[in-house]
Amino acid sequence: MKYLVYVELKNGKPSGAALELLSAAKKAGADAAAVLAESGCEDAAAETAKFASEVIILDDVITDPNGRPTEDFLTAALAKLAADEGADGVLLSAAPFNRNIAPRIASRMGVGCVTDVIGLTVEGGTVVFTRPSYGGTVLEKQSAADNKVVATIRSGSFDAPEEGAACEPVHKSVAVDDADLKAKITEFIAEAGEVVNLEDADVIVAGGRGMGSEEGFKLVEDLANELGAVVGASRPAIESGWVGRTHQVGQSGKIVAPKLYIACGISGAMQHVSGMMDSGYIVAINKDEDAPIFQIADVGIVGDVHKILPLMIDAVKAHKAQ
Ligand SMILES: Cc1cc2nc3c(=O)[nH]c(=O)nc-3n(C[C@H](O)[C@H](O)[C@H](O)COP(=O)(O)OP(=O)(O)OC[C@H]3O[C@@H](n4cnc5c(N)ncnc54)[C@H](O)[C@@H]3O)c2cc1C
Repeated sequence: MKYLVYVELKNGKPSGAALELLSAAKKAGADAAAVLAESGCEDAAAETAKFASEVIILDDVITDPNGRPTEDFLTAALAKLAADEGADGVLLSAAPFNRNIAPRIASRMGVGCVTDVIGLTVEGGTVVFTRPSYGGTVLEKQSAADNKVVATIRSGSFDAPEEGAACEPVHKSVAVDDADLKAKITEFIAEAGEVVNLEDADVIVAGGRGMGSEEGFKLVEDLANELGAVVGASRPAIESGWVGRTHQVGQSGKIVAPKLYIACGISGAMQHVSGMMDSGYIVAINKDEDAPIFQIADVGIVGDVHKILPLMIDAVKAHKAQ
């Protein structure tokens, strides 16, 4: 069994989420061929080759003005490359771009599509994927006929791969027809407002309604600054205008899996928890000892955020001064 693993770049390097796909393929018992398709990706391919036994650099890529492959190109190219390589499937990280193209690739290949995977097992030779459903209230298991599948996998669901396989990247080209290229990207207009990279953050400090006010929410930002963390928020904090909507974590916000998630004044409603429950270590601060967030927290602090956060900020400052 063989899966193509699509490796997108972040700041010119293979994204962590994409490299984790190599671990997912290994766990599935599949050979993996990592595929890179961005202009000037030779260094990233060499980096990927430390972890993979096969690395393919796609040539003749149709790119958008940012030098990234277009959705139409990548959809057609990955489906055709899978056929050329005799691959049974394609694994992609669950980044928004990849979520758009995964079902399209699956349709071209005539195979099943499993999205938002958070784990997998092999049962009697069948790869069984686990994914959250109904806003994370249930976990469902899905498999595809003959293990032929296109799957998107959430960042943080698998370990980073270990170095060792090592190979020499090879260049390959696939013929993409004009008929495959339905949309032409001519220009990107940046969204007004700040860019928040919650999905890639190692540490997130998130605040909820319990922060009380815009001024109270500043304590969340102060702790995040001290820790070098990214600020997250529950929906009420955003609807109150304390922080921009790009910070929202949850069912209708971002799905995150940092190493450390500090939830401040957040009750733990399922629509919030479904977006952060895969975090490595969860610290929750809430004045209500029965708050549902404590059910998923590794450490729960019962108390007033306005008293506890200043103590935490001082402790981090003192630690950094040592
Ligand atoms: C379709 C749909 C989609 C949604 N999507 C999202 C989403 O993506 N993200 C999201 O977050 N929500 C989402 N929601 C809203 C969600 O249901 C909850 O209403 C929301 O998550 C609650 O946010 P909260 O925990 O900040 O507020 P609350 O539930 O009001 O909780 C506030 C908490 O703060 C504590 N508190 C109060 N004062 C203090 C203090 N001084 N010190 C310590 N603790 C204190 C309280 O004990 C309480 O537990 C969605 C809802 C729907 C219907």
